[in-house]
Amino acid sequence: MTDLIKHSPNSPILLTASLHVEEARKAISGLVNELIQESRQLHNASDIESVTLDQAINRILAEDLLSPIDVPAADNSAMDGFAFNGDCLGDSDKTVSLNVIGTAYAGKPYKGNIGQGECLKIMTGALMPDGCDTVIPQEFTESADESAVGFKQNQVKRGENRRLRGEDLLSGKAAIAAGRLLRPSDLGLAASLGIASLKVHRKLKVAILSSGDELRPLGSPLDAGSIYDSNRYSLTGLLNRLNLEIMDCGIVRDDPTSLKAAFIEATSKADVLISSGGVSVGEADFTKQIMQELGDVGFWKIAMRPGRPMAFGILKPIQGSSRKTLFFGLPGNPVAVMVTFYQFVRAALLQLNGASQTEPPMTQAIAEAPIRKKPGRTEFQRAILGRNSDGKPMVKLTGSQGAGILRSMSEANCFVILSHDQGNVAAGDWVNVALFDGLL
Ligand code: AMP
Ligand code: MG
Repeated sequence: MTDLIKHSPNSPILLTASLHVEEARKAISGLVNELIQESRQLHNASDIESVTLDQAINRILAEDLLSPIDVPAADNSAMDGFAFNGDCLGDSDKTVSLNVIGTAYAGKPYKGNIGQGECLKIMTGALMPDGCDTVIPQEFTESADESAVGFKQNQVKRGENRRLRGEDLLSGKAAIAAGRLLRPSDLGLAASLGIASLKVHRKLKVAILSSGDELRPLGSPLDAGSIYDSNRYSLTGLLNRLNLEIMDCGIVRDDPTSLKAAFIEATSKADVLISSGGVSVGEADFTKQIMQELGDVGFWKIAMRPGRPMAFGILKPIQGSSRKTLFFGLPGNPVAVMVTFYQFVRAALLQLNGASQTEPPMTQAIAEAPIRKKPGRTEFQRAILGRNSDGKPMVKLTGSQGAGILRSMSEANCFVILSHDQGNVAAGDWVNVALFDGLL
């Protein structure tokens, strides 16, 4: 069957079979890029705001953060030890003896000059005293007491264990590049430069809804054939990791009027709408009809497991607004929702919000047991990354891998990603692994 599937008004993709995961990613990224260009023309730089460091975690830096100071601001000691003038050093293992004439602490510099035959006890981070260019660490000395220290002439070289002014970062240079998804280390770095607030892109507003007649909200009884709506909760959790503004549009029944009203409501307020359910074969017909009216949306069959059906495109601006809304119609199966979010939505949200790095990091590990895999689709198996008895990284699948079995996801800490052309995996083979969370 031939399917004309559009991913943007200008570049339709003609599909004879399922869409490769990589093609889907490219199509999404291309459309997001078009949206960014359009919105730049419309809004200039108005999407930038200033936030204090305690509000900045997981926001995206909008401008290079230039350092107002040299780091370190002055030469200082990298070790606890003794500071002296390197003139006394040489190639032999003859012992040098120096008189200790005082102590320099971090935050309490020693005022005064250090002459020939003299040294200063010095703590890590203390300013290098006048007349000194080298530090011998405490543990490299042969003898040391309050008044004198001895060490071999060739134990250190001139200039060692001294951190130079500006060696980490020069004043005026970029400490953090624009586009960074801000992590704890970035907040600490900004604080170390004396910077209390950062220019970030405004939060994206993301609407979510669950569609399905069988779905019940938490707190209500389950009648025959009904299930609790879990997707809005996993989606909320996934979105919260990105510090976005979430608009919860609740559960929407499988009828054209309710669905259309919910789509219009979301489009009038949100930058992005993520729905789950209602895009699989048999269910998609009226969703397709509504989408034809409200936007330009492709209904994709992606060669992946889980997560085959997915709708993606643009919802047209509602009257009186100039904003187009990016739309992801994710499959209903709870694991498929998380996989498609991870694989497509997360990167698109980051890209739309100005991030330079959108792909989660990938690593490799040894498969603990054989994994069955058909070539011709990308698979995302849920697994736990650990170590084998040799200390090598090893992955173990988390039980039954059905697309509805959320426990396989809950127990896992990573996906084993089996690529499109790959076949069966034998125990001991190396496989690609993507961790769910970075620790830092
Ligand atoms: P659908 O894509 O609508 O055909 O749904 C596929 C499967 O996912 C069905 O078994 C649905 O009951 C289930 N499902 C759909 N939406 C949700 C949801 N919000 N929470 C939990 N399960 C869902
Ligand atoms: Mg459904």
